[in-house]
Amino acid sequence: MTDPKRPAAGPTWAQVCKECGQPHGGQENHLYEYQDEVDDELVCHICLQPLLRPMDTPCGHTYCFQCLGNFLREQDFCPVDRQRLQLHQCRPSSLLVRNLLDKLSVTCPFQAQCGQSMQRCDLQPHLHNSSYKE
Ligand SMILES: [Zn+2]
Ligand SMILES: [Zn+2]
Ligand SMILES: [Zn+2]
Ligand SMILES: [Zn+2]
Repeated sequence: MTDPKRPAAGPTWAQVCKECGQPHGGQENHLYEYQDEVDDELVCHICLQPLLRPMDTPCGHTYCFQCLGNFLREQDFCPVDRQRLQLHQCRPSSLLVRNLLDKLSVTCPFQAQCGQSMQRCDLQPHLHNSSYKE
């Protein structure tokens, strides 16, 4: 960490998730730097971040797949209205919603070298085409 030759620009490619380019645990959601304020409708009520792999509940709520899965491992109700809920009752959100989420602007996590912004769905291909992978 104190190596003076390394720029103080966060983790290296080897240390980060290959999908979002940020360091996080395997059971955790990907991390993104969002450019703009995101509409409340597109925010997960568990992690309070824009939804990732959104799942709709029968009671009309939407959560990230990962957040809901983790929550329902311990509980058997919807975190917002406490209606009884099991994961198999939930369905992926509509394509419309998933597309809206994919279009959110995020910033490349390699701020020092790049810092470009792009649509969320374009970040992974961007990372894989870039030269950070050393
Ligand atoms: Zn990730
Ligand atoms: Zn979430
Ligand atoms: Zn609910
Ligand atoms: Zn970049």
